[in-house]
Amino acid sequence: MRHLVLVLGDQLDRSSSAFDGFDAAQDAVWMAEVAEESTHIPSSKQRTVLFLSAMRHFAHDLRRDGIPLHHRQLDDPANQHSLAAELDAAITRLRPAGLVLTAPGDWRVLQALRGVARQHGLPLDLRDDRHFFSTVRDFADHASGRKQLRMEYFYRAMRQRHRILMDGDQPCGGQWNFDADNRQAFGRDGPGLLPPPTRVAPDATTEAVITLVAQRFAGHPGQARPFGWPVTRAQALQALDDFITHRLPHFGTWQDAMWAGEPWLYHAHLGAALNLKLLNPREVVARAEAAYRAGQAPLPAVEGFIRQILGWREYVRGIYWTMMPGYAEHNALDAQQPLPAFFWTGDTPMACLRDAIGQTLQHGYAHHIQRLMVTGLYTLLLGVQPQQVHAWYLGVYVDAVEWVELPNVLGMALFADGGVMASKPYAATGKYIQRMGNHCSGCRFDPAQSTGDKACPFTTLYWDFLGRHEARLAANPRMALQVKNLARLSADQRSAIAARADAIRAGALAT
Ligand SMILES: Cc1cc2nc3c(=O)[nH]c(=O)nc-3n(C[C@H](O)[C@H](O)[C@H](O)COP(=O)(O)OP(=O)(O)OC[C@H]3O[C@@H](n4cnc5c(N)ncnc54)[C@H](O)[C@@H]3O)c2cc1C
Ligand code: SF4
Repeated sequence: MRHLVLVLGDQLDRSSSAFDGFDAAQDAVWMAEVAEESTHIPSSKQRTVLFLSAMRHFAHDLRRDGIPLHHRQLDDPANQHSLAAELDAAITRLRPAGLVLTAPGDWRVLQALRGVARQHGLPLDLRDDRHFFSTVRDFADHASGRKQLRMEYFYRAMRQRHRILMDGDQPCGGQWNFDADNRQAFGRDGPGLLPPPTRVAPDATTEAVITLVAQRFAGHPGQARPFGWPVTRAQALQALDDFITHRLPHFGTWQDAMWAGEPWLYHAHLGAALNLKLLNPREVVARAEAAYRAGQAPLPAVEGFIRQILGWREYVRGIYWTMMPGYAEHNALDAQQPLPAFFWTGDTPMACLRDAIGQTLQHGYAHHIQRLMVTGLYTLLLGVQPQQVHAWYLGVYVDAVEWVELPNVLGMALFADGGVMASKPYAATGKYIQRMGNHCSGCRFDPAQSTGDKACPFTTLYWDFLGRHEARLAANPRMALQVKNLARLSADQRSAIAARADAIRAGALAT
């Protein structure tokens, strides 16, 4: 055998770089379903079903097309349950002259596979991942010499470089950012009739995986059914079509809005398909831009959406790969609190958290503002140890792969990187959640109160957070105003807030 081409669970695209020059007469593909990838942090049932089912569909297509394939299934009695052990066994058995791999999405996995190649004295041809607009080298060039990184500047450079939403050398509509037109709340009457999300009925392969996962990972978070995520490229393309036609035109207006019992709203639900490489971000962005140019979607909606993919998605990947492995260890605010137990059950009287965690455990999905300004905000204000928060997010979401999850959690939600990713902590009281949705009206707490029995825990913890980090935050020009407001509190108010915050941390409000 000339090359053993390694294909991981988030690399399910035949046009990926690992297949360049593939010759079925001399090369073969290697895939392995291993328990370690679901247990090194406890992966939710939805997430594991998604990865395994998508891998099995991809493997089926390879076989159908006559591609030599060595695919170890999870339920194979000979399975050694770690990528390294499985690869080691495959190399011993197949004796390839070299290994080929598209750069993986997880630093730990890269180290493990490199280690096996080294141990066998085999060359590992590590290739760029073309499922991004930029390479990690591009990001490093952009970052070099800058005192502070800011997504906005990176995004504008990406727009210019890739000629996206540009009219000549000017941004379409004469401005780079339409945030002021976007990000509204639904108002008293709520979202009205929502377009249904694309849900794919499980086929026999997915059904078999659901049964396997329900048995094998019975104690893991969440539930395997109902399962409706795209697991093939054809299904992912259908989901893309559906989003562009029915939800993109309203994406921007409602991108930050929340509504109790409505998990899907006007979001794309394409994160998992993008991260497993069933879709290429270029085609997603091109479809969105084409909808704008054809007059089918307004510019603020399309710009708001493209910014997420061309801007944030590329930016967080650059941060991850230029800063690992040290990035994972950051804890700039010295947060040491354990993750509350209700994150694994959703059993809490806080209506916003109950809803966000409940839908997360049910579907493996919550939209960005729920991740940032509900679950993320609560763990920031409570002072939960960042690595525990990271493990939760990496385990529960179907689109979670470390390169994207870690900077979003450590950097954006928790400010644990001390300001690499975000210029200030996203700290807010419960009034933000009240403004952006209707959860507070069905909650026993009051977001306007910081002390007393009805005090919203977010509001109490917000003031406590500012107080605990006053010196550090006062030095940040973007936080100075918020910190100044602390001076309006009397000494008695401050100590009442601190006492209630201590009670919350001690679990007094857990159920
Ligand atoms: C604490 C936290 C954890 C997160 N963890 C993940 C994760 O594990 N995997 C993941 O893909 N995204 C993650 N995100 C980013 C974002 O919340 C999800 O991409 C998004 O909610 C996925 O749903 P969607 O496809 O409906 O996205 P939409 O809101 O419709 O956005 C469209 C696409 O833009 C991209 N995108 C949007 N925001 C971001 C962002 N901040 N970073 C990177 N890409 C972005 C995604 O590919 C997404 O599919 C996280 C954000 C936060 C605040
Ligand atoms: S009152 Fe506080 S805890 Fe309750 S829903 Fe509103 S923000 Fe969440």
